[in-house]
Amino acid sequence: MRFALCTILLVLPILPVTQSPPAPVIDSHQHLFSPAAAALVTGNPNSPGISARNLIELLDAAGIQRALVLSMAYTWGKASRAPVANEYEHVKAENDWTAQQVAQYPDRLRAFCSFNPLKPYALEELARCRKDPQLHYGLKLHFGNSDVDLDNPNDVAKVRKVFEAANRYRMPIVVHMHTSIDNQRKYGADEARVFLNQLLAAAPDVPVQIAHLAGAGGFNAATESALGVFAEAIAKHDARMKNVWFDATVVVRPSMSPDDLQRIAARIRQIGVERMLYGSDAPASPLAYPKAGWAAFQRLPLTPAELRAVATNIPPYMRDFAKR
Ligand SMILES: [Zn+2]
Repeated sequence: MRFALCTILLVLPILPVTQSPPAPVIDSHQHLFSPAAAALVTGNPNSPGISARNLIELLDAAGIQRALVLSMAYTWGKASRAPVANEYEHVKAENDWTAQQVAQYPDRLRAFCSFNPLKPYALEELARCRKDPQLHYGLKLHFGNSDVDLDNPNDVAKVRKVFEAANRYRMPIVVHMHTSIDNQRKYGADEARVFLNQLLAAAPDVPVQIAHLAGAGGFNAATESALGVFAEAIAKHDARMKNVWFDATVVVRPSMSPDDLQRIAARIRQIGVERMLYGSDAPASPLAYPKAGWAAFQRLPLTPAELRAVATNIPPYMRDFAKR
């Protein structure tokens, strides 16, 4: 009996087992909220916010070592909310609070600065972030929240200046490029072409990470046609795409059908898994916690090798950090 059990134990490890892919090396799309920003966004003045310590606990639960924290400062200039008094002071305070939070976990968290790129203080804040030891690593822009209309040449010109400056400062850019849903801006292939021709072309020397697979979370026809423009550019070896990464943050929704999942997987293959990053987004509810987010992503009909590639990709702005 003892012998038989031993035999089983010895044999077990070599039985073919379906190995689940490793947890992602990096969560490439995270957010923290200061108590003030959380109160602004939720309307609850007693909201505790989301601290670095909260995030570290959730990353630990998912087995994820590191995260790129995208400052929420832009939400102080959200276009579809009533203006806040002393807006720029709040923007600076939120960026600085985020910097102080990540500084508590220097081996695990890295922050990108943010602001609404249409505001008069945009370039001033970028220059200030560039000099900050925690915030100089990069910039996050949210076109939906800031209501950057890619069909409006004035908006595009303003954002282009921000891209040019970030490129000069060698600050990588993470961009939620889907235009405002609240304000019903047009979005699809035409807007993706504006992004490629006017904005990506203005930042040739820095990596750009397009968030949510060029969508706003979930996956619909507009997102798919925007993504199609990038897939086509990559297939043609368009030089403007050479430094472009994508994060698949909150793209997979619980309600998605096998057909939806199949379509997303096909687009991910077309873009190339080597450009694809895993991200969770703000841990505002248990469904958005990193552990749940990675479980949701694995519902995509990707091969174990493809899932492993996504889990182990490290974008250039996290490489020195991940080696520590
Ligand atoms: Zn986000």
